[in-house]
Amino acid sequence: MIFSPLYSGSTGNASVLTAGKTRILVDGGLPGKALTDALNAVGVDPASLSGIVITHEHSDHIKGVGVMSRKYDIPVYANENTWKAMAPLIGGVAMKNVRTFITGQNFYIGDVDLTPFPLSHDAAEPVGYVFFHKGSRLVYMTDTGRVTEALREKAAGADLLFLESNHDVDLLRTGPYPEKLKRRILSDRGHLSNDAAGELLIKLYPTGVRRAILAHLSRENNTEDIALGSARAYLNAAGIPLDDYFLAVAHYDRVTGIFEI
Ligand SMILES: [Zn+2]
Ligand SMILES: [Zn+2]
Repeated sequence: MIFSPLYSGSTGNASVLTAGKTRILVDGGLPGKALTDALNAVGVDPASLSGIVITHEHSDHIKGVGVMSRKYDIPVYANENTWKAMAPLIGGVAMKNVRTFITGQNFYIGDVDLTPFPLSHDAAEPVGYVFFHKGSRLVYMTDTGRVTEALREKAAGADLLFLESNHDVDLLRTGPYPEKLKRRILSDRGHLSNDAAGELLIKLYPTGVRRAILAHLSRENNTEDIALGSARAYLNAAGIPLDDYFLAVAHYDRVTGIFEI
């Protein structure tokens, strides 16, 4: 599989995964033009997309989904509650392109086996995904307020983990956000902190996870350097050799790179 984060953060999220002839867009939280440009930049013709899979209905994940589906005739996959919440927000999608899955049950798009799993976030029925192809696994986990044992099991042994590292808790607490928003972000249905991400990486190391991309960074309450530094400090404190570990951070405003899995 080849995975490219195109945009990541509260201003918009989208990634693309290719495996054989299958091309999957994960979320489409930017205008259609921005999504089209980023796809072209990584060599994926938007018209060749096999499907768009949705994590949840917040606008930073769905803004351009309707446009892309209509313009390029692409099926859109989401669970029923997400469809209900998302349908009024994205404009019409052709009936044949409305695809529904059941959270927790795997399904296929072309050559890729997907398993959507539940997350803890203030949306209708938010999910992360395990993407499986030819023995390799990508685990996609952003927009979750906490990490449960069930989530750790889903991420165990991932060949690449795309993991939320949203905020530095001190920056958030002392920053300019209104109290209500701070409480929402810090809650069990908000976003994962750098600390929570670091602790998860440590727990997953014995399961074989050696590659992670930190994602969905807050622009106000985090920086790429702080997030990376925090993850490295956690791994280091746990005695995990950093030269044995691949860590990257997903950019909010441009393609992060092309990662082979
Ligand atoms: Zn989000
Ligand atoms: Zn969200």
